[in-house]
Amino acid sequence: MYDLIVIGGGPAGLTAALYALRAGKSVLVIEKSTFGGQITWSPKVENFPTIPSISGAELGDRLTSQVLEQGAELELDEVTGVEIDGNIKRVKTDFGGTFEAKALIIAAGARPRTLGIPGEEALMGAGVCFCAVCDGAFYKGKAVAVNGGGNSALQDALLLSDTCSKVYIIHRRDKFRGEAKLVEALRAKANVEFVLNSSVTDLLGQDELSGIVVTDNAGNSRQLDVEGLFVAIGHAPDNGVFSELIDIDDGGYADSDESCTTKTPGVFAAGDCRRKTVRQLTTATADGSCAALAACRYIDSLEN
Ligand code: NAP
Repeated sequence: MYDLIVIGGGPAGLTAALYALRAGKSVLVIEKSTFGGQITWSPKVENFPTIPSISGAELGDRLTSQVLEQGAELELDEVTGVEIDGNIKRVKTDFGGTFEAKALIIAAGARPRTLGIPGEEALMGAGVCFCAVCDGAFYKGKAVAVNGGGNSALQDALLLSDTCSKVYIIHRRDKFRGEAKLVEALRAKANVEFVLNSSVTDLLGQDELSGIVVTDNAGNSRQLDVEGLFVAIGHAPDNGVFSELIDIDDGGYADSDESCTTKTPGVFAAGDCRRKTVRQLTTATADGSCAALAACRYIDSLEN
């Protein structure tokens, strides 16, 4: 049995692991997709204190190496359920694994939001993409669109503008939510066109995307001949599998307090899966440390 199982290997989960390991606890981190989490999709991170500029992938790699060096065990698998048996937390995974621990930190992050328009699902991977770092190279020399107004959309558009012939950035408001510096950088690019107060309302093409229809807030539509659409409209939590352990708010986020405790003793929630006002790398890592220290106090209390 482990002292602690952390579900989710993003910045919150890996920071939690780091703190617990340094407190002398045995730790297993279970991640369903990529150690490093969502941040690995960011081409450039320039707002993490002490690091002027780093790619998200490198940041994720560094954090993963750091916890491995401290003795973490890592498991690449999807958690399908958690049972509480007295003080034991039993975690079941998709590949049939069962892992036990005294405490559990849920740092499961969030998955990309979809537009919910006809054809979107059928064209995923055939023009409709959610990660410019992963898929941008397929659109070299081609016209693409990015939808969204946050840092992810702005960074995606910047990255794509280096290799694509044309990049439309479509946002439903007249102002971006993301950093002004990124907006400035995009304005300076000759191949970037801002399509504001507008939404993507239709996807064209049967087997592959051949264009999109955007409609402005006054109801006027126009067709953009793009081969790629990068959807970057934020993320939604995926806490369904934990619904019996934690309270979940209307938005699907885990309801937990400042020290990341939940309604189940020994179960903590950290990072983007938790209700909070600011979701940043810095707040995710802060949550990871708070949750780990609370989990360590809980584990120690079982032994006394
Ligand atoms: P975000 O900040 O939540 O922005 C999502 C954007 O999508 C908003 O502009 C929102 O519009 C728009 N949107 C939401 N639902 C939509 C819909 N159904 N149709 C059209 N547009 C929709 O998400 P994010 O950009 O993924 O960033 C998530 C967090 O990670 C943020 O806190 C961000 O700052 C952070 N981040 C940091 C870095 C970094 O470099 N450190 C990189 C990437 C992201 P409204 O503005 O109208 O709500």
